[in-house]
Amino acid sequence: MKIFNTLTRKKEEFVPINPGEIKMYVCGPTVYNLIHIGNARPMIVFDTVRRYFEYKGYKVNYVSNFTDVDDKIIKRATEENVSSSEVSEKYIAEVKKDMASLNVREATTHPKATEEINGMIDMINTLIDAGFAYDVDGTVYYEAGKFKGYGKLSGKNIDELEAGHREIKVTGEEGKKHSSDFVLWKPKKEGEPSWKSPWCDGRPGWHIECSVMAKRYLGDEIDIHAGGVDLIFPHHENEIAQSEAANGKPFARYWMHNAFLNIDGEKMAKSAGNFLLVRDILKQYDPQVLRFFMLSAHYRSPLNFSEELMESSKNGLERILNSYDRLTEISYEGRPLNEEEQKIFDAINGYIERFEAAMDDDINTADAISVIFELIKLLNINVKDGVSDILGEKAIETLDTLLDLLGIKTVREKEILDEEIEKLIMERNEARKAKDFKKADEIRDKLQDMGISLLDTRDGVKWKRT
Ligand SMILES: [Zn+2]
Repeated sequence: MKIFNTLTRKKEEFVPINPGEIKMYVCGPTVYNLIHIGNARPMIVFDTVRRYFEYKGYKVNYVSNFTDVDDKIIKRATEENVSSSEVSEKYIAEVKKDMASLNVREATTHPKATEEINGMIDMINTLIDAGFAYDVDGTVYYEAGKFKGYGKLSGKNIDELEAGHREIKVTGEEGKKHSSDFVLWKPKKEGEPSWKSPWCDGRPGWHIECSVMAKRYLGDEIDIHAGGVDLIFPHHENEIAQSEAANGKPFARYWMHNAFLNIDGEKMAKSAGNFLLVRDILKQYDPQVLRFFMLSAHYRSPLNFSEELMESSKNGLERILNSYDRLTEISYEGRPLNEEEQKIFDAINGYIERFEAAMDDDINTADAISVIFELIKLLNINVKDGVSDILGEKAIETLDTLLDLLGIKTVREKEILDEEIEKLIMERNEARKAKDFKKADEIRDKLQDMGISLLDTRDGVKWKRT
């Protein structure tokens, strides 16, 4: 199987460090808001990569962090007059809800930056001792020019970086020796979350977080490091500089980056007023449609979000799922395959091979989806009432497997009925009367997962769909 490696700028045969195992790190979101569709693209794309590797028999250790200390989180906390951790905990829960609705599986580990501070202090100490970092009045900088390979991922040249940035001074970073140096640790400001360190009470820079979390949960050398193309520079370039200088080993063998997502042909930006939250889109579309839309392009191609393309994804997915539903409803005969049916059976295997060939070629989901459309055409014509159950099972199983690889569910979720909600609320009332608060809470959580929120009032329990 081949994947495109940003580091070498070519498609390469994928060879894991340990046979049968993949250590994969995907940069996660900074949790200060609900996620927008630009955040959703890497989540969906790399969840699909993971599913495919597992299908190929690999055990995937998938780590994706939450950046829960950051200027944006602090700003939001100040605006809302709450603590930073209240903001981050709230949005971690919200991100997880969106991930679940998009059928993005939970990572093996979802580390949080604030719980990994000791590891960051250790790595910064190592970098200072090895001469890659220096402390100026409590702010610790990484001296980019000291790392021989600096620029190898982004293709940037350190001298050009210096020349281009000579005039730019970032507030709070006045003490650095070179403009390409970056912050590993910075002093706290009044009211900000902070941790004790050998340099000052303060907090880590963003880049060191990922180097440390990758090391702790996956080791010094990992197979795949992934994220959006906007992270190549400076974030991933800086991660390489930190990890390789501290660990003395190559960091990630393969770097995978998904391309930009535009909205109606324009870059998404708050100022342009085209900032689209996943939650907003899900008011209008089934989450499966958004997932299917994201995978309808190759992950390295820019993707344009528009009403028109979403409608066409919706129709396309509908066609596939209708075909699937029909296969589960028709009647089959319990008998061996006849000659004609055997041909169809073999043709299905041919489509599976073509699907795999597309995915083996740098996870080409666009081509893989075309194969599914061709397959349903074959099935619509040839799998009818009265065909052998062996063929029927083969058709259903194949669609189940291929769609599951794309994270598309074949069983459509039914709308929860009012009676079911009322029944659960009664059970909860009974549990509360019996002072079984554990059970009562479990029922409340269950309802919450179904999108039902409860309000205990003097007139009894009221509920609404959220
Ligand atoms: Zn990262």
